[in-house]
Amino acid sequence: MALIVQKYGGSSVADSEKIKNVARRVAKAKDEGSQVVVVVSAMGDTTDDLLKLAYQISEQPSDREFDILLSTGEIVSSTLLAMALGSLGYKAISLSGAQAGIHTDSSYSRARILRVDTKRVVSELRKGNIVIVAGFQGVTGKRDITTLGRGGSDTTAVALAVSLGAEICQIYTDVEGVYTADPRLVPQAKKLKEIGYEEMLELATYGARVMHNRAVELGWLYNVPILVASSFSDSPGTTICKEASMEVKNKVRGIAHDTNVAKVTVVGVSDHPGIAAAIFEPLARANISIDTIVQNASINNITDLTFTVARSDLLKAMSIVEPVVKSVGGKQCVTDSTLAKVSIVGTGMQNTPGYAARMFRALYEHGINIQLITTAEIRITCIISEDRVTDAVRALHQAFELEKET
Ligand code: ADP
Ligand code: ASP
Ligand code: MG
Repeated sequence: MALIVQKYGGSSVADSEKIKNVARRVAKAKDEGSQVVVVVSAMGDTTDDLLKLAYQISEQPSDREFDILLSTGEIVSSTLLAMALGSLGYKAISLSGAQAGIHTDSSYSRARILRVDTKRVVSELRKGNIVIVAGFQGVTGKRDITTLGRGGSDTTAVALAVSLGAEICQIYTDVEGVYTADPRLVPQAKKLKEIGYEEMLELATYGARVMHNRAVELGWLYNVPILVASSFSDSPGTTICKEASMEVKNKVRGIAHDTNVAKVTVVGVSDHPGIAAAIFEPLARANISIDTIVQNASINNITDLTFTVARSDLLKAMSIVEPVVKSVGGKQCVTDSTLAKVSIVGTGMQNTPGYAARMFRALYEHGINIQLITTAEIRITCIISEDRVTDAVRALHQAFELEKET
């Protein structure tokens, strides 16, 4: 019997009526003859609310307690969906991440899945149950609860699809698929019929939150097709798969934007070997991702070093960097949390000149100042002021004629 994994995001399970709607959709998949595993996110803004609550209680909540707290959101929605399916006359059971065998490392708030022990899920499926798994969470070897990072329920779903040998992982959300840009920012954005893993991974990593980037990475690694579609309509959605059609290859495929960006400038450090390592090694040990790094040309052997981190990591990053900068005789650290990233992504950009120039011109024509630039094989990213991000995404969408995408 075919096995499918479906995932429903927070807005799809935001209230009891929506949970009943999801239950009907899950029941339909079961009626069509599949074994069904469902991963759910927390209802609506529950995760944000829990997060705020933690910070009302403590300025620096314990990592361990914080993860247990956040994991409860998904437990609530999984139990309610199991009850809704029960009321429709279907056998269903909810499992927490730990019960579903999602084993992770112990990096709280950003835990990585080490393995999935599918025994319990398989045995429940064999009993004829629809299995509802609480997304976004796992358990360490010491039985402590972890969470996988914001948006991580997608990764739970793909990890289960991989481990159970599912034929597809279906991600149901509040938009009808993956668009050429966030449709909430660009009304002209076009839904893509399909997109390759590589392009989707780059878009997701640079802010297209419709998919968690690690979910795309897993799908790519194990070649599991991922469908992104709406939980509110029967529109066909977007398939993320190995090879997008040949004729759509030679293009910019999408624009991503991200406002979770902060810039740190280390002012007046001496320009000699070992300084960069002294600054970036402790950040790496603390699991803080650094994105763009720029070192200015030095004057009298003194230089400035600028890098970006996620805004949500800024406080932690500064608590690490400031003492290091002092210890190596640096002058000061200056931060800016009013920035955003805009990126153009497409495999067609590989080895083809002209894309960067077109991007810079489009931003210039809209009076948008570029503060930093990074490039990769299939992506160019500009760091700009946050208050111009909507204009920038729209300008780039138009400049690369993405509204003509079919
Ligand atoms: P869920 O709660 O279902 O996981 P998310 O809010 O995480 O949903 O992701 C869906 C949102 O992603 C959409 O509402 C949309 O605003 C945003 N988004 C950003 N970029 C894109 C894109 N390129 N295509 C579609 N949606 C996008
Ligand atoms: N509920 C978590 C979040 O809001 C995980 C998810 O929705 O995927 O980030
Ligand atoms: Mg999401």
